[in-house]
Amino acid sequence: MNSALHVLQQVFGYDSFRPPQAAIIDTVIAGGDALVLMPTGGGKSLCYQVPALVRDGCGVVISPLIALMQDQVSALHELGVRAAYLNSTLAWDEVRQIEDALCQGELDLLYLAPERLKQERTLALLQRAQLALFAIDEAHCVSQWGHDFRADYLELGMLHAQFPQVPRIALTATADVRTRKEIIERLQLQEARQFIAGFDRPNICYRITLKENPRKQLLQFLREEHRHDAGIVYCLSRQKTEETATWLHNEGFTALPYHAGLSAAQREANQARFLREDGIIVVATIAFGMGIDKPDVRFVAHLDMPKTIEAYYQETGRAGRDGQSADALLLYGLQDVLKLRQMLAQSPGGEEFKRVEQHRLNAMLGLCELTTCRREALLRYFGETLPSPCGNCDTCLYPVQTWDATEAARLALSAVYRTGQRFGVNHLIDVLRASDTDKIFQFDHQRLNVYGKGTQLNANEWRSVFRQLVARNYLSVDLDGYGALRLEESCRPLLRGEETLALRVDVSIKSAKAAKRTKTPAPAISGDIDPVLWDALRGLRQRLAEEHKVPPYVIFHNTTLEELCRRRPANLREFGEISGVGASKQERYGPVFLELLRQFSAM
Ligand code: ADP
Ligand code: ZN
Repeated sequence: MNSALHVLQQVFGYDSFRPPQAAIIDTVIAGGDALVLMPTGGGKSLCYQVPALVRDGCGVVISPLIALMQDQVSALHELGVRAAYLNSTLAWDEVRQIEDALCQGELDLLYLAPERLKQERTLALLQRAQLALFAIDEAHCVSQWGHDFRADYLELGMLHAQFPQVPRIALTATADVRTRKEIIERLQLQEARQFIAGFDRPNICYRITLKENPRKQLLQFLREEHRHDAGIVYCLSRQKTEETATWLHNEGFTALPYHAGLSAAQREANQARFLREDGIIVVATIAFGMGIDKPDVRFVAHLDMPKTIEAYYQETGRAGRDGQSADALLLYGLQDVLKLRQMLAQSPGGEEFKRVEQHRLNAMLGLCELTTCRREALLRYFGETLPSPCGNCDTCLYPVQTWDATEAARLALSAVYRTGQRFGVNHLIDVLRASDTDKIFQFDHQRLNVYGKGTQLNANEWRSVFRQLVARNYLSVDLDGYGALRLEESCRPLLRGEETLALRVDVSIKSAKAAKRTKTPAPAISGDIDPVLWDALRGLRQRLAEEHKVPPYVIFHNTTLEELCRRRPANLREFGEISGVGASKQERYGPVFLELLRQFSAM
């Protein structure tokens, strides 16, 4: 393992491996196959990059993200690694050059799109070359159940037969047990050693709040906590992403839309700005984000509820890859549930598919309505147990209050029943609160004995009751478009008075935030750092990034800049001891950074 450690220190400038990395790298260097499940930011790339550098031959990385290949390869060049990619964006002579380099043994890493790999020409090329390993990134793309499915990934199973002597390592951040099984089966990884790292992302603070006035809530969140930060705002529809981006722009933020309806060029341009500039907000549908390895995304906000916990975890997981504190804010309401259920009902999938998806949607809803630690529930969903509540989610920071809603729930259920299970929430609330709307008189509902029995709660409180009854499956929602509520079998004991019900008191975002503040949130940069030096270092990094045509974090991460601020190296040797400074960056950037530090201390 010595040479692996040497590569880590020499090339990447890091001191030591994180615990799972060492074992994974060991396995692959020894020629074994590996299946790696590690959360975003866990450090998956090193798991194949280091063995590719230690073993003879070139490591072939299969990645579905053509748009990102160039950045990945540029980042490796900055480290002095001989890397290249082959995809459809290259001209013919460039392809030839790379093919030659591969066959001459002049490449350490080669990135390939999956559709390219299955071509005869590519296979023949790989047969001629000496290969160190195959790395299959985003391996969950092989799963037909997930929304990232890529048909080309199915063909990757053939690598096993075609290159039996080349070790394979498959990596993903999202895999419930079922997806994991699918990956093993379809990629022929039955012999692979499995490395399943914990899924926890302790630096992400999870907050799920009722949608009251979503724009106002988002604005407050951005203004008070993320004024100059990069982040992602997810919306369900294309139109809403556009509108939200425009509105944020008018509010003084740099916000760009991203969805499948934009031209490829526009999408690419917006993504590139997000990666390359500081403080950009992308307002996106789920089309955005797979493989976005920008480490300093400080927040992910959802203006609509994701369909599944898997999707929620994956999307929020794009925040805080650098390990520094980050926020995940979800605003949700009953309308979201109705919309998602309707979309599901109208989707072309078969009955079994719909049943599974319905189940997943209910689990997501359950997470929203939770009164205990969010992280505990999230991890439990992925088969992990957290020993104690996390202290870094809204329910931990601001314990949820519950109230005895037995009577209110019974009233709500009988309003549904007495009106014939044909009406939506608003009308039911009108009945309970004795409003005199036309609709009430049209259906003679003022004569019902539930009419006016619910004036002790206001309309919002009733909405909360109905929402939670739906979430707990006492009521179901008619999917024909009008949102009529129906009684479910499970409400019987409650109606008969055999069961009591405690519901959560909805907390608005303000109070959740106030609670968070008492816990002194980690500042963007810590107190012992000179802000003037910090800005100067960031300015130099930005200039170098533009010169080298790479995102700023490819030059150095914030953590490296912070260490420079604190330790203020005085010579190249000391510069090389900073975490994140390998031999290549020491040589390339040492002199300019040292010069800046020297000028600064002379001031
Ligand atoms: P993933 O692909 O799992 O999301 P990355 O491979 O992008 O994660 O790594 C996340 C961050 O952690 C990167 O900035 C990487 O340089 C850093 N990192 C990975 N391994 C180590 C290590 N052993 N020591 C220090 N930093 C590391
Ligand atoms: Zn918690």
